[in-house]
Amino acid sequence: MQVEKTRFGGWLKKTAVLAGPLLLLLVAQGIFFAGKAPSIEIEPGMPAIGKQTPFQVKVSEARRGLTRVRIECVQEGRAVTLAEKTYSASPQFFPWGRKTATDTLTATAGSLNVQGLAEGTAVIRATADRAATWLRRPGPVSGEISLPVRLTAPSIQVTSIHTYVSRGGSELVTYRVGKTAVRDGVRAGSRWFPGYPLPEGEAGDRFALFSVPYDRSEPDARLVAADDAGNESEETFIDRFYAKSFKSDTLTIGDAFLSKVVPEILSQTPGFEDRGGLLENYLAINRELRLSNAETIVELARKSKPEFLWSGPFLMLPNSKATATFGDNRTYFYQGKAVDRQVHLGIDFASVRNAAIPAPNDGIVVWARYLGIYGNTVVIDHGYGLMSISGHLSSIAVEEGRRVSRGDVIGNTGTTGLAGGDHLHFCTLLQGLPVNPVEWSDGHWIRDRITRKLEEAKKRQQ
Ligand SMILES: [Zn+2]
Repeated sequence: MQVEKTRFGGWLKKTAVLAGPLLLLLVAQGIFFAGKAPSIEIEPGMPAIGKQTPFQVKVSEARRGLTRVRIECVQEGRAVTLAEKTYSASPQFFPWGRKTATDTLTATAGSLNVQGLAEGTAVIRATADRAATWLRRPGPVSGEISLPVRLTAPSIQVTSIHTYVSRGGSELVTYRVGKTAVRDGVRAGSRWFPGYPLPEGEAGDRFALFSVPYDRSEPDARLVAADDAGNESEETFIDRFYAKSFKSDTLTIGDAFLSKVVPEILSQTPGFEDRGGLLENYLAINRELRLSNAETIVELARKSKPEFLWSGPFLMLPNSKATATFGDNRTYFYQGKAVDRQVHLGIDFASVRNAAIPAPNDGIVVWARYLGIYGNTVVIDHGYGLMSISGHLSSIAVEEGRRVSRGDVIGNTGTTGLAGGDHLHFCTLLQGLPVNPVEWSDGHWIRDRITRKLEEAKKRQQ
């Protein structure tokens, strides 16, 4: 017992010797040390304040934690609170207790939430308060950035006339935008057709190739110009719209067809999830793979060269017969039951077996390999977002990156992909969206709808 007592006494002594200074330190820091000033970073999501400009504010106070953060928009001495948040600080003598050392806040500033905001300059200010000590109440710290306020959308003025467009067809529009525009083009539903500087035009003179997509029954296309603060102008500009209706078609699919197309597409499509049955796999190919292939084509269009690589009408497969047309509404029957519906977005040309396929026009080959439902495929970029696709090839005669001229053999027709018999699936595309190729094969249409408008725009500048 005696021994135990002595040991315990020694431990107590040691603890007291160690704990004394520690306690002093704790008291001292609780009284005096407020810690480093909080750091504040304000990051605007846009280079100017417009209708609704987002901000991200990062605040940190590692020692004691934050007690309050306020974000304001200040103009001409008038401050409007955009966001405010309070926090519970750590207890004074236990800085390791619960606290909020860093936080990221978001807020928006613009004419929508700051009443009376005027063009000019405004300041975004963030103020952070931190926990007090016994003797010190550290003042709040604030950080601010100054940004231009722009509330006037860029001007936009259509300069071409006679904008006549068919459903699923293409058209060209020329226009002029104001200096503050950073993005312009034609918006049709969810599709975006970017504008480009008019070749040899003055600053602000632009043109866009666009389509009223095959799946829109209204010509709800708008010419749009936006500035870097999100202010947007819109202009309607279509004079005439032909609400072309598309054919209905039925396709009967049998087991022989399924066992020809499904295993091939599966073996050529890494990452495709096997659904277990021929029909199940076929339906997944016809729906999901079709969509994924369409996305791949849209991706290709993003790299389209901003120049006219083509001239004159597009060539179709010579000595052939069209067996399916653009926009056909297809219903697929299996064992007498309708199992799927899809829109056929191209023209099918049947000729002799393994017929040589001419390049439809001058351009650069951007895809020359297998592409899901289209089998062996050649995609050619003709510039300014205009491309062409040739599918179901038995062989490909060109490499990606190669320049081709109209008429150069790019491959031979075949039955790869979703094809029953030997044929060519051909289509023209604008920004990856299939558009009726009949227009692009028509020299009169090209003169009237495309080249005439570009020439007239050039004349206006002289
Ligand atoms: Zn086809």
